[in-house]
Amino acid sequence: MEILIIFLVVFGIIVLQGPVIKWYNYLYEKRQYKLFLAQETFYHAIVAQHLKYYNRLSVDDQHKFLFRAYLFKKAKKFHYIEVEERAEMPILISAVAVQLTFKLEKYLFNFFKDIYVLKDDYHYGFYSRPFEGHVDHSGIYLSWDKFIKGVKGLTPSWNMGLHEMGHALAYVNFISQTEEDKHFKKEFKNFSKVARPIFESMQNGRKNLLGDYAGTNYHEFWAVSVEVFFENPIRMRHDMPELYAAMSSLLRQDIIEMLNINKLAA
Ligand SMILES: [Zn+2]
Repeated sequence: MEILIIFLVVFGIIVLQGPVIKWYNYLYEKRQYKLFLAQETFYHAIVAQHLKYYNRLSVDDQHKFLFRAYLFKKAKKFHYIEVEERAEMPILISAVAVQLTFKLEKYLFNFFKDIYVLKDDYHYGFYSRPFEGHVDHSGIYLSWDKFIKGVKGLTPSWNMGLHEMGHALAYVNFISQTEEDKHFKKEFKNFSKVARPIFESMQNGRKNLLGDYAGTNYHEFWAVSVEVFFENPIRMRHDMPELYAAMSSLLRQDIIEMLNINKLAA
């Protein structure tokens, strides 16, 4: 009899765990949504001023985008090292993460609780060359100077924030496996069918639009592909059409189509 009760209790916990967590998340988001509405205008002012990507979205998508950015920021602890904290910093960092994952279901990078904002290039660990940003088990690290240059489009073809968020997205899906996005994981195999041969050709000395750094290892190839996809989509589709298409299906975003829709609407 006792065994049956224990079995039923354990079974009940296992079966109910999913729906209870879902219900809790639903209530949490509902409560946060009200708080978000009070701040939406502020978020909009900051994001619209800096992010071209955001300005190309429809009004409904902008609303969804900002709420995601709000929840992302809320879920992180931001640390400022040798840099003076300003209100726009965590909002823009959250917005860049949301840009990358906007058409995916999962977007919180739940493994990472801490984001470190540093002044400029910094030294890390035993490496002698300065870092602009990196991601490891302890958090996401970004140099503010490089981050804001990327956001403002001052560094053609590269965007350090998107690059590091690319690493973080791969991390939660493949390394910590704590926030797996079904579509992303499944489609990544198809992405690799296209991307691996390009990466291998780079290791054999072939040059292309992605630049030498993308040939360092497959992690960097992925992160650089993210940057170029968002920052230089027309050139990428022209030079590397298969990689552009693979990236587009993987992230469920077609940046060139977004540009065209915007032109038609203008
Ligand atoms: Zn990298």
